[in-house]
Amino acid sequence: MNLRLLLACFGMFLVLGSQSASAEEATWKAGSAFVRITPDKPMWMAGYAARTKPSEGVASELYAKALFLEDTEGHRAAIITFDLISVLKELRDGVAKAVETQYGIPASAVMLNCSHTHCGPVVRSTSKAIKDIDTEKTKQSFEYSQWLKRALIDLVGAAVENAEPSTITYHRSQAAFAMNRRLPTDSGFRNSANPDGPVDHDVPVLKVVNSKGELNTILFGYACHNTTLSFYEFCGDYAGFAQAEIERNHPGVVAMFVMGCGGDQNPYPRRTLELAVTHGKTLATAVEAALETPAILVKGPVIARLEHVKVTYAPPPSKEELESRLKTGNKYIAQHAQRLLTQLETEGKLRDSYSTLVQTFQFGHDLTLVALPGETVVDFSLRLKREFSDRHMWIAGYSNDVFAYVPSRRILQEGGYEGGGALVYFTAILHPGPFAEDIEERIIDSVHRQLKSK
Ligand SMILES: [Zn+2]
Repeated sequence: MNLRLLLACFGMFLVLGSQSASAEEATWKAGSAFVRITPDKPMWMAGYAARTKPSEGVASELYAKALFLEDTEGHRAAIITFDLISVLKELRDGVAKAVETQYGIPASAVMLNCSHTHCGPVVRSTSKAIKDIDTEKTKQSFEYSQWLKRALIDLVGAAVENAEPSTITYHRSQAAFAMNRRLPTDSGFRNSANPDGPVDHDVPVLKVVNSKGELNTILFGYACHNTTLSFYEFCGDYAGFAQAEIERNHPGVVAMFVMGCGGDQNPYPRRTLELAVTHGKTLATAVEAALETPAILVKGPVIARLEHVKVTYAPPPSKEELESRLKTGNKYIAQHAQRLLTQLETEGKLRDSYSTLVQTFQFGHDLTLVALPGETVVDFSLRLKREFSDRHMWIAGYSNDVFAYVPSRRILQEGGYEGGGALVYFTAILHPGPFAEDIEERIIDSVHRQLKSK
């Protein structure tokens, strides 16, 4: 794929006189880089199962970006973010392994986070096509994923090359366009704006300034589905527009978006390009506001940990139940049931567990970054911030392995789309049905183990 690598040029820095850091405060070596990842031809798009045709143009470019960090003790870490719907574990593992070999960054210290834009290409990291999915669609998404993997590895290399003595500070503000999207009704939870549901409006910000006092990277987060849009043009949605706005306000800076636990949060109002731009500007403004708050100096060392966490399922449907679902009249439920029946026939049983990844980065006593897998719902970030209220906690969702919605116990009990209804749309991994109710505990326990708080 003939896509052009656009690596960060550090010739143009915005000098922030009042915020300049002296050389002795520069406790990090840090560098960032970016690469344009917009497909150079029409492709099938991710996000909505009902899509009927490939993309038709580009509303805004898609990017992948990387931040490389090294503390004074030589611990290395890399955070990779990109404007795509998903991070598949196979892609993460391939990138992390190569990054460890080539740049000496431990695989456990490599984090991949996606913005979850629904206006990017379908990404598939396996050539194993599911038979009832269009083969041309599968082939082109597989080729794109292969190209993406190489681009991400080179991207981290560019960030390492750009590294220079730096100071890092943590800041925080809030933005309010995310609203809970699980509305209780007489017939169950409906995907609709619920002003009474839980939200996490925090906007965490990491500011990287070099020893000359020049701002070079802004990493920021928000917990909200990146789904203002559902059209047929490639677009980074609100998160893409927020990054572009920050980079416009600070020429030469790399602005990176980290998706939070926005599994059950939507931007409102939505459905027009103008609203995506507006939400992006709102988030960019919140980042600027955060930069005016007192700086929390983030010193090292950075200790990264990664655990494989096994999650299990509620009792699976019987063969008879699956056969009855073939006749429900809902094509997605029927397709899912047919795949499960085929699995039963060929493998003799359905999947009974899934192994995913939970990661943490402890920055001395100053900041804890938690990278949770899947389409993590807001209960996870609210709970972890409560249980670690003595620390500055940054809870990312959509990291390293976006394998399904990851519901809390509450949402599993309530049911609805994030509680299990959406599983029929996950074609990359064949889940037999909703997760067991202890999925929340298994993931939260891993965070506690890694942060040695229990
Ligand atoms: Zn989603």
